[in-house]
Amino acid sequence: MVKQGVIPDDLTKPFWEAANEERLVIQNCTACNRLQHPPVATCRQCGSGDNLEWKGMSGRAKIYNYTVVYDTPIRMLQDNQPFNLAVVMLDEDPGIQMYSHLPGTPVDEVPVGASVEVIFEATANGQKVPEWRVAG
Ligand SMILES: [Zn+2]
Repeated sequence: MVKQGVIPDDLTKPFWEAANEERLVIQNCTACNRLQHPPVATCRQCGSGDNLEWKGMSGRAKIYNYTVVYDTPIRMLQDNQPFNLAVVMLDEDPGIQMYSHLPGTPVDEVPVGASVEVIFEATANGQKVPEWRVAG
């Protein structure tokens, strides 16, 4: 399904640029050795902004839970209703969670706990976004 375009800002730009290169990167504090997402200007643990880097991820995750959307207010997605909306946890850190429509998985047949792999889909303005597909 075609999704709304994303407009990166200064803080999120490295994340979106990596997505356009089909790489998943997550903000990491090298002082705390701790990942955080979505990106913010300072580490949520030590409060410093000096040790933040963008760390490449394996692109593997597991499905934590999901819901089925029947009535979205986002007009661009209404033609695709109903659709899955899953939460996935990155293998590197289950505390880092991302949403997915799980392309290829039938509505309401989401295998909770299954492994998924990142793919990248172009949105309406061409910006690619991470999506997740159940690993075969
Ligand atoms: Zn820190």
